[in-house]
Amino acid sequence: MSVQAFVSRRVVTPQGIRAAAVLVENGRIVDVTPAGPLSAEIPLKDFGDLAILPGLVDSHVHINEPGRTEWEGFRTATRAAAAGGYTLLVDMPLNCLPPTTTVAALEAKRNAASGQCTVGWMAWGGVVSDNQGHIEDLAAAGVPGFKCFLVHPGIDGFTMVTEQQLRAALPHVARTGLPLLVHAELPGPVDAATQRLAQADWSKYATYLASRPDEAELSAIRLLLSLCREFRFRLHIVHLSTSLALDMLRAAKSEGLPVSVETCPHYLHFSSEQIADGQTLFKCAPPIRSCENCERLWEGLRERVIDFVVTDHSPCPPAMKRLDERDFRTAWGGIASLSLALPVLWTDASRRGFTLADIARWTAEGPAKLAGCESQKGRIAKGYDADLVVFDPEAKFVAKQEHLHYRHRISPYLGEELRGIVQATYLRGNCVFESGTFPGEPSGREIRR
Ligand SMILES: [Zn+2]
Repeated sequence: MSVQAFVSRRVVTPQGIRAAAVLVENGRIVDVTPAGPLSAEIPLKDFGDLAILPGLVDSHVHINEPGRTEWEGFRTATRAAAAGGYTLLVDMPLNCLPPTTTVAALEAKRNAASGQCTVGWMAWGGVVSDNQGHIEDLAAAGVPGFKCFLVHPGIDGFTMVTEQQLRAALPHVARTGLPLLVHAELPGPVDAATQRLAQADWSKYATYLASRPDEAELSAIRLLLSLCREFRFRLHIVHLSTSLALDMLRAAKSEGLPVSVETCPHYLHFSSEQIADGQTLFKCAPPIRSCENCERLWEGLRERVIDFVVTDHSPCPPAMKRLDERDFRTAWGGIASLSLALPVLWTDASRRGFTLADIARWTAEGPAKLAGCESQKGRIAKGYDADLVVFDPEAKFVAKQEHLHYRHRISPYLGEELRGIVQATYLRGNCVFESGTFPGEPSGREIRR
């Protein structure tokens, strides 16, 4: 295969946003040169003023296959990803059956994914109450790291870990050198609050919010940081919602603890004040908090206490959202956003003075580093995979169902005017999404560590 060139006046590179030609051969970037006359033999795609971003990496996605394919699946999730500018997804271990807590389960996932994927994928291994003996085997089988819950995960088949069980797992995790991603809420504050609210009106968002207090996150993060100090494992806090944890996390980072932090578009875009009663589409855990909290999370990103932004794409069949019952107690918690996350984030970030270089750092480089593929994915640079997103940062659109490509087209973002349109997505130099269509056969494959 010969060289082709992707040209634009706004190529988002690690050195900044510049006019450049990205030269691609055999799916790899062979050079990034200042835009100028190229040899007439090189086929050229000139995108003019449209921006070219590195393919986005989402290290927090619930694909649900095998086992809960009626919720989502590799085919639909990876199409939604391509439409949203993502070229690599890392799947969480809990919603599939069997959960990814053994090598046999990882193999079942590989079989399920085969031939279905429009973009690349990886799978986190799970750490549960009783699988300490499987941790190092999963690492050897190619997972990039592990995920555990300090609170009930809201789904059967994947157990939370107590401090004691976590202590039993941590020496194994530390030996692998791989990150442990933790859902950081402790059950104590959640259970106490929920009991207090037994007679409350659960159609009110305020009731749900009160049932998942900041203290649940704070006490979990406090515990995790002390375990990180003791066991020296790579700690990653998933979906940080409370800004009250930022001081503690800033201090841990200055102390040199190996800790990283993510948050999600819904915590940066919505606030509790806007959520109407009965609107269970907004239910997720930890919960969307106040407007003031949201602004502080943006500050956390600005000062890099929060390292990056991932979707926590977590869909379910619409009936499980219990929209008719308007009951926050029984509705499934999770927000699906793969197709819209980039425009949502860009809409909010550009208003606050951030640039596409920040977007690339948060949505490509940062998550790629967590997943251990930072020498192959997440940057437009020589030697990297030619995963590219053509993005119109100025165009606006109103989010509609036709923009969602995951299995169940429900979303709390519908009807919003958003800034930025994904025009096309390229995986290793091949177009996998363009103007609402998915050309070619599914060519996404697993990236093994
Ligand atoms: Zn999640």
